[in-house]
Formats: sequence, C-alpha cells, structure tokens
Amino acid sequence: MKTSNLLLATQRENPSDAEAPSHKLMIRAGLIRQVASGIYNWLPTGKKILRKVEEIIRKEMDDAGGQEILMPMVQPAELWHESGRIDQYGQELLTFKDRHDREFCLGPTHEEVITDLCRNVIRSHKQLPITLYQIQTKFRDEIRPRFGVMRSREFIMKDAYSFDLDSEGLDTSYSNMKETYIKIFNLLGLDYRIVKADSGAIGGSDSEEFHVLADSGEDLLAFSDKSDYAINAELLTELQDEQDPSSLEGKPSPDGKGNLKLKRGIEVGHIFKLGTKYSESLKLSIQSEGGNIFPEMGCYGIGASRIVAAAIEQNYDEKGIKWPEALSPYQVAIVEANPKKNPAITTKCSEIYKDLKDNDIDVLWDDRDKRPGVKFTDMELIGIPKMIIVGENSLEADEVELKMRGEEKFDLISPHEILSNL
Ligand code: ATP
Ligand code: MG
Repeated sequence: MKTSNLLLATQRENPSDAEAPSHKLMIRAGLIRQVASGIYNWLPTGKKILRKVEEIIRKEMDDAGGQEILMPMVQPAELWHESGRIDQYGQELLTFKDRHDREFCLGPTHEEVITDLCRNVIRSHKQLPITLYQIQTKFRDEIRPRFGVMRSREFIMKDAYSFDLDSEGLDTSYSNMKETYIKIFNLLGLDYRIVKADSGAIGGSDSEEFHVLADSGEDLLAFSDKSDYAINAELLTELQDEQDPSSLEGKPSPDGKGNLKLKRGIEVGHIFKLGTKYSESLKLSIQSEGGNIFPEMGCYGIGASRIVAAAIEQNYDEKGIKWPEALSPYQVAIVEANPKKNPAITTKCSEIYKDLKDNDIDVLWDDRDKRPGVKFTDMELIGIPKMIIVGENSLEADEVELKMRGEEKFDLISPHEILSNL
C-alpha cells in the first residue's frame, strides 16, 4: 500500500475528550473516529488491525472444533421475555419497536438467540457436543462509554456457546475453550492473567476472566504472592462481605498461601459455565438414551475491538504505538526522503516495494509529497515495527537506513540485505 492511496487521517493534537493513552493514540494514528458517544468508525488502518485480531481468534476457534455462524444483531424481545432476562439485564439493553409494534432489542449477547436456534435445528443427542461461535457487532447502552473502543456502546465480540449432554461434557468443553483462549492471547503477544470471576447478569456457576495488565484497567485484580491464586477483587469483596475492593492489598490469600497483591486489568475475555439456565427456560430439550435432557451450556466471549485498545495500553511510548508483530497493520514502512532532490530515490523505493510485496511482506510506502520528518512522525505514531529510509546520501553509497520502532539508532545496509534483515 502507498500512503498516497491510503486514508491515513493522522493528527498531531490529542482529542480533548480522551483520557486513556490508547484512546488518544487510536484517534491520533487515524485508526478510529467517533460518530456518537461510544460509537465509532474504524478507518482502513484500524480495520486492518481489528481484522488481524479476528483472524487469530477465528483460526484458533476453528482448530478447537468451533463452527462459525452469524446471528442477527436485532433480536425479538420475546426471546428475552422467555428467558426471563428482559428486566434483569437493565438499561444496557436497547429496545425498540418495528412498524408493526413488535418489540425488538439490539443484541448485547446471544444466549437467547443461540438457544432458540438450537431448539430448532438440533434433533438428536448424537449431534452433541457442539460449539458454535460468531464474530459480530454487539450493542450495550453503557451508562458511561469511555476510553474509546475499550468501553464503547457498539463493539465487536467473538462469542461462542457450547452444548453438552451432561456436566462432565461441559467441563471438557469449558477446558477446551480455556486452552484455546490461552493460545489466542499468547499469539496476540499480550501480557495477561486469568482470574476467578463473577458470572454477573449472564448467570451460571464457574467463570473466569482474561485480563490484560495495564495501569488504565478498570478492574482491580488480586494475586497471591506465593501461589497461582488470582481473583477479580470485586468478586473477592463480595465473597468476604466487604465494601472496598482496594482493601484486598497485603491481606492473607484465601487459599492460605501468601499475601494478596493488587494489579489493574482490562477484561478482554470471559468464560462461563451456564449449566441449564437457558436450555430450561427456552425449552431446548433433546432426546437422549435415558430420556429427554436439557443440554449443559457454556458461553465464551472475547472483546475483539477492546483488544486493539488493550494491546496499545501495553505497547506505546511518547512517539506513538509500538505494535507487537502479530497485530501490526504493516510489517515495514518505506520512507522516501526528499525524492525531488534525486529521481533515483523514487526508483529505488519502487524496486524495494516490489521486492517486498513479491515476498509477501506487508509494506507501507510513504510516497507523499511531505517533509521526511512528517513521514517519520506518522510511521512512528502508527507504530510500524520497522522503517526503511531511502535518502540521497545513503543511496549514493548504495545503502538504505533500517530503523526499528522504539530505537534511536539506525543501521546502514545494502538494499540487497533488506529481505534477510526483515
Ligand atoms: P465489563 O465488565 O468490562 O463491562 P462484561 O463482563 O460485561 O464486561 P462480557 O459480557 O463478559 O462483558 O463480554 C465479553 C467481552 O466483551 C468482555 O470480556 C469484553 O472484552 C468485551 N466487552 C464487554 N463490554 C464491552 C464494551 N462496552 N466495549 C468493548 N468491549 C466490551
Ligand atoms: Mg465479563
């Protein structure tokens, strides 16, 4: 891709309403633009990163035996009456009526729709176990949208649902998903922790959250300094009948090993054992050898759009974003410095560009008619891990500059060595 053809939309100024570093940087790097409170456009570079997150999730979900489906964003409120969740879910559920006066809602999650689908299509116990998933837009009318796409009203979630014949089956499906999440978050290159969690409005028993560690995280997490005990501090205060989650620092760990330490986290994934809550209320009954059963369900969410912001919270400096390899929108940038001084500069950039593309390297060529400083600033702000600078002086010596994001120094290398250096 050449920047002259790309809707780049970088800006120098910090948006006045942004507090979190990732929010500021996503706007400044031209990844997102707000449409309304908690509702965003994803621009080409941002969408490319989001797609990388989605592709990593999709591949691991497929490898784990998940089957991808797509459910609608608009759901009949009737299903929410059937499950009994319509009042419980509260005002985050945005409801509206169609022209026939029928009530609908925008899906904040899809337990009702998936259970309704399965009661219509699953005919035999031989079809279980099954795990179905989608990567799709959710809407929650959050009371206080903030931090850009980290807590937005409209966002992209991967949600998966497992159906098993019995609770041992659910244990297996849940462990399978937990292992899959570990693979996904390792591949994303994030520093994360798994903690015990509250199952909240969704209902059910066991539940664990995956948190990216970051100072800007909204959740407080408590860890034992002597064992692998880890819990969302909110749940621990509830269990211990206390008020203030931050009172959980220095106290003995509930597992009897060591003392608790607190850290802040951003919830990027959540897995639950739902049991038969939805299969019973929505009457998903399946004939099995021992009579009719209600399948044991699990549900598993990952905040795909939130991950983009969370990854930035762990990877930035004063110049901008520093993408981990797995998420970077481009692997390398070519900066054409002062091409008007010497036409050989553009010719060399064009050769390098073609060579990289022929070798399947995702490259962004900054060919704009701008000062080199402006180009460096933009490429560093967007966070591309490597930059090749083609300028008059080095080119005369048949060399180009190779600079790594986050380092001040650059190496002079021959254009023939570029591929081996990448
Ligand atoms: P939170 O506690 O942050 O409000 P939640 O527990 O309500 O999240 P889940 O129902 O577990 O969220 O949804 C699964 C995942 O969807 C979360 O782990 C999170 O990554 C993502 N998510 C939830 N709410 C939002 C939001 N408002 N904006 C962006 N991502 C979200
Ligand atoms: Mg959650």
